[in-house]
Amino acid sequence: MTGYNYAYLDEHTKREVRRATLSAIAIPGHQVPYASRAMPLARGWGTGGIQASMSLLGPEDTFKVIDQGSDESVNAANIRRLAKTTADVDGTTDTTKASIIQTRHRIPEEVLDDDQILVLQVPITDPLRRVDPSDDANRRRHAHKDYAKMWVALYENVVEWGEINVGSRYPVMVAGRYLMDPSPIPRWDVPKLHDADNLYVFAAGREARIYAVPPHTDVEPLAFADKSFQVERFDEPCAHCGSEDTYRTEIETDDGDRLVVCNDTSFCEKREADPDLAKDHHLDCEGVTWGPATGGVEAASGHVDADGVAGVEGGDDQ
Ligand SMILES: [Zn+2]
Repeated sequence: MTGYNYAYLDEHTKREVRRATLSAIAIPGHQVPYASRAMPLARGWGTGGIQASMSLLGPEDTFKVIDQGSDESVNAANIRRLAKTTADVDGTTDTTKASIIQTRHRIPEEVLDDDQILVLQVPITDPLRRVDPSDDANRRRHAHKDYAKMWVALYENVVEWGEINVGSRYPVMVAGRYLMDPSPIPRWDVPKLHDADNLYVFAAGREARIYAVPPHTDVEPLAFADKSFQVERFDEPCAHCGSEDTYRTEIETDDGDRLVVCNDTSFCEKREADPDLAKDHHLDCEGVTWGPATGGVEAASGHVDADGVAGVEGGDDQ
């Protein structure tokens, strides 16, 4: 595209974002500040994710963008088009074909491999802000690995609800050192962060911070010995493909009916064609763990929020 630099951002900005990303990879879970730029869309619509993606993309890359599991939302389609026009990359909706995937609120159902990078759009960077609005105090807590206030908040949560009732943005401990906000992914996706083959980059435009989970990093959701971390449980299979091992949401059809369907539309289409398709069908190795165990998901202790949004705090993405 004439009149624009390759991948929209100027070279200095891309270098700056890449430097911050490398620092973030070197210190897993630690929030690294960077000079967030104005992007051709409002902050809150994925500007951090776009800056990270655009700094990483090269002409050989294949780019996928999802918004809540869908490739076709207006925002996802526009971000994909921006990358296609300015960075000359191929767009795809197929998770297995993408080298870089930018996402809001979901990690795909198909297993990511060591050639892939997942860029998550982040609205709120610091998990401690739930318990204290002061960034100053929270930075000190991170420096001292002092997460007592978060533990107390979780304990109070258990006292109130009988279990840990956190819908999304579930706090996780990264490499035994930093407490991290995994962005508003459902609890269903949290186990995928642990010991993954791929790199996770979390980018916030408004807060101008980047953090990362490098491949094969220990990521542990906070929990108590007698109150374990639970993923969402679904009573109905997907109305389209019949899957019982995917994250499902309720949608309303044009006739006003309510249907429970897979949230990951790309994988749902593949499952419709082949109901037995495994989540690791594209990999050479077998039996890759990815997210909650199929079928025998550890039974939740009675707490079900089928749409996975109970307790979600407001907030858009950057
Ligand atoms: Zn489905």
